[in-house]
This record gives sequence, C-alpha cells and structure tokens, in this order.
Amino acid sequence: MKKEQRLYTPGPTQIPPRILRAISRPLIHHRSDEFKDLFHEVRERLKYPFQTQNEILILTSSGTGAMEAAISNLFSPGERVLVIEGGKFGRRWTGISQAFGLEVVKFPVNLGEVADPEAVDRAVAQDGKIRGILTTLCETSTGTVEDIQGLGRVLRGSAILFIVDAVSGLAVDELRPDDWGVDVVVSASQKGLMLPPGLAFLSLSPRAWERVEKSSSPRYYWDLREYREFGERKLTPYTPAISLLFGLKEVLALIEEEGIEGVWARHRRLAQATRKGMEALGLELFPQRPSNGLTVVRIPSGLDGEKLLGTLRTDFGVLLAHGQEELKGRIFRLAHMGWVAEGDILRVIGALELALRKLGLQVAVGEGTGAAMDLLMGVNR
Ligand SMILES: *Cc1c(COP(=O)(O)O)cnc(C)c1O
Repeated sequence: MKKEQRLYTPGPTQIPPRILRAISRPLIHHRSDEFKDLFHEVRERLKYPFQTQNEILILTSSGTGAMEAAISNLFSPGERVLVIEGGKFGRRWTGISQAFGLEVVKFPVNLGEVADPEAVDRAVAQDGKIRGILTTLCETSTGTVEDIQGLGRVLRGSAILFIVDAVSGLAVDELRPDDWGVDVVVSASQKGLMLPPGLAFLSLSPRAWERVEKSSSPRYYWDLREYREFGERKLTPYTPAISLLFGLKEVLALIEEEGIEGVWARHRRLAQATRKGMEALGLELFPQRPSNGLTVVRIPSGLDGEKLLGTLRTDFGVLLAHGQEELKGRIFRLAHMGWVAEGDILRVIGALELALRKLGLQVAVGEGTGAAMDLLMGVNR
C-alpha cells in the first residue's frame, strides 16, 4: 500500500479538504462581475488575519515576489536600508535590496538568536541615514521569531519604514501591525494560510504609499500603483490566480470561525507540545526564541540527518525539512503551521521515536508522545 505523505515542512503546508474542494471549482473570468465581487470581498476580509486597517494587495507569485515588490516600490537606488540578518530569509532582503541598487547596512544576528531592539535603535541613530528596516517575523531557516513589537516600539515616531516578512509567520505567530507600528507586511499563500503556492500579499500603510509614489526604481509587473488603481475597480492589472482566490475565501472563513487569537493560541499550544516531546526524547532545540510555526532541532552527533528524514518519509509517510545552507546536516525542521491539530503532532513525534530507534538510538518509545500528551492535557509529570 502506498502511504499518503503528510507535509510537516515550513511551506508548502498541508491543505484542508474544504480548501481543495473550493479551488477545484470551474473557473470564472477575471473581468466578470462575479470575479469583482470575490476579489473585493477577499481583499477586505484579509484585513482580519493581517490585523490591519491598511490596504492589502494580492499578487500572483510566491512570497519572494512580494518581497521584491516591496523593495522596488518603497525605495530608490542609493537609499539606505538596515536589514536584520538572522538567517536565510533575512539575507534574502539584502539580496533583493542590493539588486535594486540600495545601500544595505547589515545588522547580523547569530543563527537562532534575535535582534535586540535597543541595539537596532542605536545602530539606526548612529547611522542617521536609514530609510527603512527590513526584518522577518518568523525566520524559517532557524525557527526563530523576531521581537517585532519591540522593534516597532523603538522605531515609533521616526520616519523609517518598518517592513516585515511574515510569509511563514502570518496566522501563526502573533502579529499586530497597526498596534505595533509596522508599515508593510509581506506574506504568501502556502504556509500558515493553508493554500497551494501562488498568491502573495502586501499590506501598505498610508506613509508607505507615499514612498511608492516617489520611488524611482525600475518596475513594471510589480508597479504597485497599477495594482492599486485596478483594485479600486475590484480588478487586477494582469490575470490573477483565480482558483486560489476561491480557496482564499474558504481560508478566511476557517480563520474567522476559529478567531485569529484562537489560531495563534492553537499554534502556541501545539508548538509547546512538540518542544516538550523533543526534549523528552533528549533532543536539543535550536532557536532561543522559537516560532510557534515550526520546531527546529539540533541533530545529535553520530546521527545522519539524511537517513533520519529519509526513514521518516519512506517508512512513516511524514515529510520534514532539512537545514539549509550553513545549517545543512546540523538541524531538522518540523513544521506545525496552518492545518494542524493535536493528532498530527502525536503522529510525527511517534514516527520520530520509531525512526530514531530504527537508526540505533536508545530512545524510550512513548516518552516523546507522552510528554506532548501531558502538555496537551495540562498534566504536569
Ligand atoms: C517561505 C518564505 C519566504 C518566501 O519564499 P517563496 O518560496 O518565495 O514563497 C520568504 N520568507 C520567509 C520567512 C519564508 O519562510
């Protein structure tokens, strides 16, 4: 029997059956009245999971497309930005900024650690020419959640644009852009939002829109002025991913039913249970301030990470993610973002126990799942 694989990867993530049904509907035309109503409705309702009153643009691309759209619309060549680099996705901001001729001041953070807002504040004050700060809510390469609220607090009152990549963090880790002073939030469909890849999102504050008007960077497909103008007529400038918008409407209903605070709380609880399970198996967690979207674990010395994830995949039908770049072979990443419930957590921890045993590690079978169950039931052992 061929087992169905369950994704425990930090994008793409598992898709709820209700969403799969919605996206398989026959297409409608993107200039029809039915489309206009749908598009307008999902844009308005998206403000709730984004926790913003700002306008949200829906783009057809993966998350990186929205990151590039932010850079090319908010800044002009030669302008200076500060990038918090705590891993692969922080560095992506640097790469895009440099590609558009911006001057990047790097604020390096050790992998698995977070930026101290006070230190960022000092770096910005010392420089005096920073026009924007680029950071990441959940740095998916290390499983770390940045202190966005703290950063927002030190930036308050300044003219610096605060831009957050929440591709993997949205509807997972708490984020309140309007309360916390975030100007621009970037996200995408295939992580906490439980959709296939193909949609990206960008919310912009009124002062961010002022920058869009002033930017002299080259842009065509990502000229956000076009998206705004078409959006006023409930349209997109180019052909949108219509099927995914059917799915998005259902995603919004799911999130509204649970409530965004409920969504955050579920992720927190499942993340805590997973971390307890890992620790009970004698495994060490990697990040200092872990995101609730994924658990990142150090691979014990003497264990082959390729073999571990291979066994999990082929024998138990669960797909986890390896470390990337300098963390390759040093960590594995177990995502619990989006369509995840208690049973999913117990399944993957149980599979991990068996796979570790199979590879010769002396783990006590049942210890990890037991610890996770205790947390889920509120028992202190
Ligand atoms: C997944 C992800 C992205 C975007 O990646 P795409 O493959 O372009 O969708 C950006 N930032 C973070 C933090 C991510 O986890």
